[in-house]
Amino acid sequence: MSSQPFKTGYPCEHATASERCYHPDCVRLWEAEVTRLREALTDAIECVASWGAYADDYFKEKWGLEGDLVRLRAALAVEEPDEQ
Ligand SMILES: [Zn+2]
Repeated sequence: MSSQPFKTGYPCEHATASERCYHPDCVRLWEAEVTRLREALTDAIECVASWGAYADDYFKEKWGLEGDLVRLRAALAVEEPDEQ
């Protein structure tokens, strides 16, 4: 996991505000950020699942725990482009 803080913003040193930057340095930063956020979302899903397991069935249904977990897991399952 990258320990480098995420600093990329537009315009970066390579691009204007109106164009997306594909400079390798910026792509690496964005990829590291995506990885960091995916890991954070994975952790959050595990927290919701483990805390939610202690909730009374009434509240699991009232809050739609299963639906929330399905939705969150689906967000993580989005296919990533396989170009390198
Ligand atoms: Zn850039």
